[in-house]
Amino acid sequence: MSSTDQVYPPSPEFVAQANANEAMYSRAANDPEEFWAEQARRLDWAVPFTRGLDWSDAPFATWFADGKLNVAVNCVDRHVDAGKGDRVAIHWVGEPGDSRDLTYSQLKDEVSRAANYFASIGLVAGDRVAIYMPMVPEAIIAMLACARLGLTHTVVFAGFSSAALRARVDDAGAKVVITTDGQFRRGEPAPLKTAVDEALGSGDDAAPSVEKVIVVRRTNHDPDLPWVAGRDVWWEDTVAEASPVHEPEAFDAEQPLFLLYTSGTTGSPKGIVHTSGGYLTQAAYTFHNVFDHKEARDVFWCTADIGWVTGHTYIVYGPLANGATEIVYEGTPNSPDEHRHFNIIEKYGVTTYYTAPTLIRTFMKWGRQVPDAHDLTSLRLLGTVGEPINPEAWRWYYDVIGGNRCPIVDTWWQTETGAHMLAPLPGVTACVPGSAMGPLPGISAKVVDDNGNELPQGEQGYLVLDKPWPGMLRGIWGDRQRFIDTYWSRFAEQGWYFAGDGARYDENGALWVLGRVDDVMNVSGHRISTAEVESALVAHPAVAEAAVIGAADETTGQGIVAFVILMEESDDHDALITQMRDQVAVDISPIAKPREINIVPELPKTRSGKIMRRLLKDVAEGRELGDTSTLVDPSVFEAIRSQRA
Ligand code: ATP
Ligand code: MG
Repeated sequence: MSSTDQVYPPSPEFVAQANANEAMYSRAANDPEEFWAEQARRLDWAVPFTRGLDWSDAPFATWFADGKLNVAVNCVDRHVDAGKGDRVAIHWVGEPGDSRDLTYSQLKDEVSRAANYFASIGLVAGDRVAIYMPMVPEAIIAMLACARLGLTHTVVFAGFSSAALRARVDDAGAKVVITTDGQFRRGEPAPLKTAVDEALGSGDDAAPSVEKVIVVRRTNHDPDLPWVAGRDVWWEDTVAEASPVHEPEAFDAEQPLFLLYTSGTTGSPKGIVHTSGGYLTQAAYTFHNVFDHKEARDVFWCTADIGWVTGHTYIVYGPLANGATEIVYEGTPNSPDEHRHFNIIEKYGVTTYYTAPTLIRTFMKWGRQVPDAHDLTSLRLLGTVGEPINPEAWRWYYDVIGGNRCPIVDTWWQTETGAHMLAPLPGVTACVPGSAMGPLPGISAKVVDDNGNELPQGEQGYLVLDKPWPGMLRGIWGDRQRFIDTYWSRFAEQGWYFAGDGARYDENGALWVLGRVDDVMNVSGHRISTAEVESALVAHPAVAEAAVIGAADETTGQGIVAFVILMEESDDHDALITQMRDQVAVDISPIAKPREINIVPELPKTRSGKIMRRLLKDVAEGRELGDTSTLVDPSVFEAIRSQRA
């Protein structure tokens, strides 16, 4: 934004103890392969690698391909072997108020039992296993047991419908589905296993790949839980009865670790493939440096669900590879009330809290009296991910949650990138609210125009990743061509990965991600980013959230249409709308003033909490809605349409 933006340098105390340092940037730039090899050597390799990147079959990369390792051993056993078995790995907090702590030793036993049982039913390296579970410890145990055996897991968010589950199970060809009998919603049990039964079908319609369904008892709510003899087994009768001793085997660095479907914000979800050695290297490296993690002192909490990549990398693989102690919370932020997260931070002394802008805006709407009622002084670092964070929300997070003391890491990355790509380094970078600042050491990114020319500071263009990185996706499951078309065709000549997002370097060299390029608007020849107009609207004190789209406009090409949620209901919408338009004119330019501002009760979001602008565009342009399969609540559109009528 403007050069008057306040900059937040790290405090001298933070700098003095930081894991990261300025020299990492030049070291990585001078010899990226050696830099990444050094990071990879922080892991335990059964067979050390001698090679780094192989890009000869671009865009299909391999990293450390002649090395062998076991991902689960790296996340669990090696900490036990190093005498840290009594350290808590997971403080699990159940939705209805139950809780459970798992030390690294206990985790090792549990993962070993699951691995022994999975092997006993004939699963072999390379087989796929679908995991459709709420946030219970067994979900993480199941993921790690898959990793231990070289199985490829695909976690499907438990809020998805049975149809969405079936599509993913079929696409992945999963042999086993792991689920729970039910899940808690606001303290009440709700069915889950029945959704699996519906998804898997029967007779002619039965999912062809699935041989077994393993059911963890969670809610115990249904004495007549439907059961398919021969297919269904209880976890407690099988896994829990298996031996806690399991001899792990090492796998190739390129052994597929998981496939995960993208959130579907921009279209139908893609099955992203990640492998082992490079992915774990980048997950562990970013966790250590971007979260400044200190073992035996920090209590980390990533609030994502394991159904998203954020949960994979920063609940499971990144923290556990570093021997961290972390919170895993099963429920929503407002059950039983809006104090839930703050109670957890206080009770466990959380030091590092990583969440999404959508939740921060929700906290703002609830009001600062909620966090102010708690002692949050254990916090020392905050993070955000998922969408651009509006500067207003950033400052609120910094002040109200972080007590003007905690660095904020705004982390830009994707399901496809595997781990953080753009982010400040805490203790090194002076942050500008709303900017992800720049590529991490070892990562290379550019902002370019249509022809791939690098743009000067101040001009917005396409965000590209011009060098391969260890955690990069290795493909789209079963669809070689879609992988090439989706990510590598826009800048095929240069061989760059195009992320789909627009960005700009500002005059001080800070990198701003401006949202999807499909969302960049063209108003009378001016390119205006939806993210910036949204941030200007959110800066108005009455506005809680805003979504902006460019709708076809006969005179200007595109007209800016905004949908806003108010902090609290007001009778004078007209006056507010005038003020909001003025706010945009002042913050950005009169050209960016929305043509139309709709005050609505809700915004359409994906299950991972992102605003689905493409559907709002369908509404504004009077079309039928596109793919809504990952939308939380389709009924929001009735309310939105009635506001516009
Ligand atoms: P699909 O690819 O199916 O449309 P999706 O892109 O929402 O879904 P994810 O991989 O979960 O799926 O999200 C990655 C995207 O989220 C990025 O491309 C970017 O648009 C957005 N994003 C993530 N973190 C940030 C951030 N810190 N700042 C700005 N945008 C972010
Ligand atoms: Mg995407």
